[in-house]
This record gives sequence, C-alpha cells and structure tokens, in this order.
Amino acid sequence: MRVTLLGTGDTTGTPTVNCECETCQVARNPGEKLRKRCREQGATITAAGGVERTRFSIHIYNDRTEQSLLVDFSPDFRQQFLREDLPLPGAGIVTHIHFDHLDGLGNCFRLVDELAVYAADETDPVTGKSVAETVDHDYAYLDQIDVRPRTPLEPFEACGFEVTLVPVSHPPLLCYGLAIEDPETGAKLSVSGDTNYAIPDVSREVLADPDLFLADAIVPAALCEYHPAGGDHEGEDGIPRTFGTKHMTREGALALAEELGAKETRLVHIAHYYPAEEAFEQPLALDGEQYDL
Ligand SMILES: [Zn+2]
Ligand SMILES: [Zn+2]
Ligand SMILES: [Zn+2]
Repeated sequence: MRVTLLGTGDTTGTPTVNCECETCQVARNPGEKLRKRCREQGATITAAGGVERTRFSIHIYNDRTEQSLLVDFSPDFRQQFLREDLPLPGAGIVTHIHFDHLDGLGNCFRLVDELAVYAADETDPVTGKSVAETVDHDYAYLDQIDVRPRTPLEPFEACGFEVTLVPVSHPPLLCYGLAIEDPETGAKLSVSGDTNYAIPDVSREVLADPDLFLADAIVPAALCEYHPAGGDHEGEDGIPRTFGTKHMTREGALALAEELGAKETRLVHIAHYYPAEEAFEQPLALDGEQYDL
C-alpha cells in the first residue's frame, strides 16, 4: 500500500489564516536550506515555495486492486488532490464528525460517480446519532455517496484492505482510530484518530505492531500550561500525555507509538503552536509525504 499524507494539520492548519506567528511565517517562506530538507523528507513544496499542514486526510492506494481509500474528508480536499495529483477515492472512511474531518465530503459532487463511505454505527449520546447516521443525514443531497455503517472492532473489507474502526477518546464526541492491513502482504497502517491518551486497551491491541503509525500530536506537552484544562494522563516522568481533554501531546503520541511497537511513526494533526525551531523537525509530518508499506 502507498500512504500519502494529504493533510497533517489541526483544525486551523499551518499556515493559519492571518497568523503572523513565527511558525506560520516560516511555513510560508522556509528559506532554501529548510525547503531542501523538507523536500528530502518527502514534503510537497507549494507553488508559492512554502510547506503546509492542511486539514486532516490520508490517501491509501492499493497497487494490487488499483483502488484508493481516503481516511477523512478534509475541507482542503480540492487543494490536496490538485497539489498531489492522486487518483480520486473509490471509498472513504469518516472517523468523526468534526468539521476538519468531514466537511470536504461535498467536494465529491460531480467528481465521483459512486463512493462508499464507511463510518461507525454506535449511537453517540451527545448527538443521538452514530457517525454513519450523521453523515447520511447531513449529505442526504449527495446521491453519489453510499453510507455503510460498520461496527467498531469488527474488521471489514474496503478497497482490498482489511479495515477495523477502534474506539478512541475525543470527548465529548465519539471518535475512532483505524487499523488498515493488506491481507496479501501483511502491511499494516495504524491511525490514532483525534484522541487523548486514554485509548481503551482493546483498541490498543488492534492498533499494535504497525509498519507505520500516524498519531495525533497537536502540541508539545510544554504548552499544556496555556490550555484552560491543562494537561492530563501524566507519564512516570510527570509529563502530560494529553493536551486539555481532546488530543495527545507530542510526548503522549510518542509514548503510545513505543507501546504499540510501531516500526515507523509520523506525528499528525499538528498545530501552528509548535515553536518554529521544533515545528519542522521529524517525526512531525508535513503534507505530501508518502510511504510504501
Ligand atoms: Zn501561526
Ligand atoms: Zn476532532
Ligand atoms: Zn481534528
């Protein structure tokens, strides 16, 4: 499978509109040295010469079946597909109903004839609907999509892959991570989804031993002091693995990657609050990186 990181940013992306912070300024104009290093790690340099982290989306191409699976529909869908020039998806998965993961779905109008959209079937007490029911309701006008509810922790087939939705922890909404495996080659991609560190053990077991792990790492733990809810889920070193209530810190994401035994880890859902001297350092991902598993 070929994994392309279409969108590696948080809900405002990097650069953030109208933001003059140092990180956003460096993203707009990295300079020749940093641009070269970003290119070497596989990042796409934009037409304007910058690097970016658009809203979250992952493209997974199955070279055996020549099908493409999309994880989440970023509001930046159009820009991402123009930038990377990838095949349009034959199927998609929606991890949860937040704007930055779902609101690009309308882009499929007149681009695809038929699109299977998989999402969890558990009723969320907050909305009174499952993710699948919300997608079905909100996009009822979109005849091209065929919403297929799936039960978490029960593997299903999509684009020739074996896919399992796993419950994670992103209060107050239900949200899911993913294990995506090629049954022929044994290649495995795990995606944390938007989550704090308190992922249930049963989900950790499904996510374990991936060739590539994409983990929510919205900010470094040092920034917890600026969140009204502070940090949570401190490790033995006293460092919070959760930022506020909804997301993992960089340290939390890396601790989880180690626990899962991930062969390779890239940190995603990155905010522009990372200091500029840390924001463009591996293992933080940038848009455009590709991995062959
Ligand atoms: Zn900024
Ligand atoms: Zn979210
Ligand atoms: Zn998000």
